[in-house]
Amino acid sequence: MGLLSEGSPLSWEETKALADHVREHGVNQFINLYHRLKDRQGDILKWGDEVEYIIVKFDDDQKVARVALRAQDLLAQLNEKELADPNGVKSLWRPEYGAYMIEGTPGKPFGGLMAHFNLVEANMRYRREEVTELLAKDECVMSITNFPRLGAPNFTYPLAQPRPEDPLSSARSLYFPDEAIFPGHPRFKTLTRNIRKRRGEKVSIKLKVFKDTKTKLPVEGAPPGEPDVVLLDAMGFGMGCCCLQLTFQACNITEARRLYDQLAPLCPIMLALTAASPIYRGYLTESDCRWNVISSSVDCRTEEERGLAPLDQQKFKIAKSRYDSIDSYLSPEGAKYNDVPLTYDEKVYQRLVEGGIDHLLAQHVAHLFIRDTVSLFSEKVHQNDNEDTDHFENIQSTNWQTMRFKPPPPNSSIGWRVEFRPCEAQISDFENAAIVCFVVLLTRVILSYQLNFLTPISKVDENMQTAQKRDACRKEKFWFRKSSKTTEQRAAKAQAQALAQAQAQTNGKATLNGNGLANGNGNGSENGDQEEQQQPLTNGSAKMNGHGNGTTNGTTNGTNGSSNGSSNGADSDHTDTDDEENELFQLLSINEIFNGKPNVFPGLVPLIRSYLQSMEVDTDTHCTIEQYLRFIQKRAAGELITTATWMREQVLSHPDYKQDSVVSERINYDLLKRIQGIQEGKQVEPALLGQDYHSKTKTKDFIPPALQKQLAKNGCCEEK
Ligand code: ADP
Ligand code: MG
Ligand code: MG
Repeated sequence: MGLLSEGSPLSWEETKALADHVREHGVNQFINLYHRLKDRQGDILKWGDEVEYIIVKFDDDQKVARVALRAQDLLAQLNEKELADPNGVKSLWRPEYGAYMIEGTPGKPFGGLMAHFNLVEANMRYRREEVTELLAKDECVMSITNFPRLGAPNFTYPLAQPRPEDPLSSARSLYFPDEAIFPGHPRFKTLTRNIRKRRGEKVSIKLKVFKDTKTKLPVEGAPPGEPDVVLLDAMGFGMGCCCLQLTFQACNITEARRLYDQLAPLCPIMLALTAASPIYRGYLTESDCRWNVISSSVDCRTEEERGLAPLDQQKFKIAKSRYDSIDSYLSPEGAKYNDVPLTYDEKVYQRLVEGGIDHLLAQHVAHLFIRDTVSLFSEKVHQNDNEDTDHFENIQSTNWQTMRFKPPPPNSSIGWRVEFRPCEAQISDFENAAIVCFVVLLTRVILSYQLNFLTPISKVDENMQTAQKRDACRKEKFWFRKSSKTTEQRAAKAQAQALAQAQAQTNGKATLNGNGLANGNGNGSENGDQEEQQQPLTNGSAKMNGHGNGTTNGTTNGTNGSSNGSSNGADSDHTDTDDEENELFQLLSINEIFNGKPNVFPGLVPLIRSYLQSMEVDTDTHCTIEQYLRFIQKRAAGELITTATWMREQVLSHPDYKQDSVVSERINYDLLKRIQGIQEGKQVEPALLGQDYHSKTKTKDFIPPALQKQLAKNGCCEEK
């Protein structure tokens, strides 16, 4: 969660009165920033992860684990290094919603060399060690998606009691005390209060309990008439969960729009693969993921907007919470899969169109702007719309969707970026690094082979729900696009060409541009170094013909300069017949999606492998990536289980478990102790990570000097 601004938060009444002001100026700011930046070209691939962590405190005498409300104090120490040397640190630390949470990112984004994939895990390990150094012996930093007994009695250290009757309480929760909300920045409590006030009542998060033979119904706190529901009533139950996010920089706005679209259908797929949160408020539930929980935890829609009362005060009925899966595609080839009507204010849309924004982008922004601001600071009310973007960012950053389309910040060297947001946090650095590297590699393959995953939005929505079901990774099927003949031919051709080109060049150092077709510019070929060298994973498939936004025609990328006569970059599935179109979407298992199904889809991992064959990769990086891919293949195949399934098994087989769905203090303690063992590499869990165990990767926290030289030559190491 990006922190917008310091300052004094306005009251809800003041904020509400300024909703239209923020909207109007936010839209103007977007129009202005768009025109300033739409033609920005040639940004190189940069990417980075965000991992959120929970600080846990163990009481080994009582055998109790609690969340430690230490984030503010830890962040003060963690940020000292950054303040002293902002460009020299290896990690950056930011607050998150929970007073027991912190977010860590690499000090600088990773970049354009294959060797960068070998840095991720070491950097994650460094982050964990950096925090651990500041912790007491009985504390532990954990990348778990949810603390299993969050909201159960006495779950915090120090102990804090909820104050549901106190009008000054932000959450007024029965379970989640305000002390568990990060106190160091007013944003978090302000959002909590304003979301509750806008909605007109506390948020209501409902999860079906996992019914075991002795589960007591009604569940404690269940709503009337819904005895099997675990009810959660505060923003903290969702925003107090951890996740794993990724951001990549595209070479220009067209490529960003394309990546946004192509990755959107993969969100539910990655959610299912990374499922890691089956336990809420001390109960085993039917859900394996945090997504619906976090979505409901910030659902500020009124009864009218939710369709429970006729429209009177509000303008629209709104289908989803402001935290949910995306509602529309942004690229021209995505347009025909926008099959769910978008809610937006026609006037806002018209203003954007008159401001020179094309239809798809205008409707996206207009749709984001159906939301009111829920957090406004007095210092930021009046802004210069030609330079500032805070009002735009205010609405943008409180639309928490599976994907985020991020325009360049004002006055920075950062380009158009796309954020991938569905994944749950995994226990070990190995797993988190595997997921991150896999998704970044996938973006390269999408650009190189011009893959097309576009699936109607309604089906992606359906997949989001499927992904959260118990053991969906092994048991469920997902709508997925059958690959067309052209896609497969293109992949095969691109691979053959790249290999041939690589062989033709000295040392096999083809420079690949983003479309994966060696462009034969000779880069690197006359280099005398005999050590390992790598071609940069540059962006740049979307070299545009003509103007910047790429939406006025159906062609996103012209592949100028490739001498190989490949397709013109338009989505060639457009050439499929209607009959083929009807069969285009099939229900596939996670195994089939990742490992392939003959005549339907080659599989995400085989596609990445094929891409890697055409890339020059140093041996250590190769070894590391290979382990990540093998791990992902095994988890997708069900040979390894998801974190969620593993946690369930831990509970069900615990000697203290009473077949009543309750995760007691002792079960919680033992589960977290085991997780601590796993993350420290002391506990081997073959079902989760395989017999050969993880951390045999060759991850390093530096790029070897020989590769470094190459990197400097290719300009991949610029400062942010
Ligand atoms: P958010 O707004 O999602 O909190 P952050 O500022 O925390 O975003 O950054 C998310 C990730 O983006 C980090 O891993 C960071 O390293 C990475 N990042 C920073 N600059 C760039 C860039 N120019 N291109 C791509 N990723 C970047
Ligand atoms: Mg983020
Ligand atoms: Mg962040």
